[in-house]
Amino acid sequence: MQLASEEARQGAEENNFPVGSVIVKDGEVIGVGHNRHRETGDPTSHAEIEAIRDAARRAPGVDPSDLFGGAVCYTTMMPCQMCAGAIIRFGFTKVVVAEVETYVDSGAQPLMERQGLAVEVGREQYCIDLVETYYQSNPAFEQIMRSARRGRLEL
Ligand SMILES: [Zn+2]
Repeated sequence: MQLASEEARQGAEENNFPVGSVIVKDGEVIGVGHNRHRETGDPTSHAEIEAIRDAARRAPGVDPSDLFGGAVCYTTMMPCQMCAGAIIRFGFTKVVVAEVETYVDSGAQPLMERQGLAVEVGREQYCIDLVETYYQSNPAFEQIMRSARRGRLEL
């Protein structure tokens, strides 16, 4: 999780929303990434997706199910629906989330749990502080992230 936090901090330094993710398979880090949405303009550039892309780039030609089957995703924020979908699709078995205080969960946790994934939630103050600092400079974005109306999955 320390590495994921470092990714989030790096993202914040680049003026992105500070979320970082690390993928671990068989005890080894196979991919890392942070949210680059603001930097790239690509709305799918979330930390988890960037980490998946990084792992795929490092292992060209490997089938995604082989690459991610049984993997663990360490991420500093609860995955959104899109990222949860990718995590489910590629056969991850566990997601470890640094904190859930800065984002109204869109229903992704029960979605992942229903698919048999283990979801472990912590309370990493460092990650909370990174997001709170970002919100102070981006109050409109905070409203969006804390809104319960935001594309909530009905499960
Ligand atoms: Zn996402």
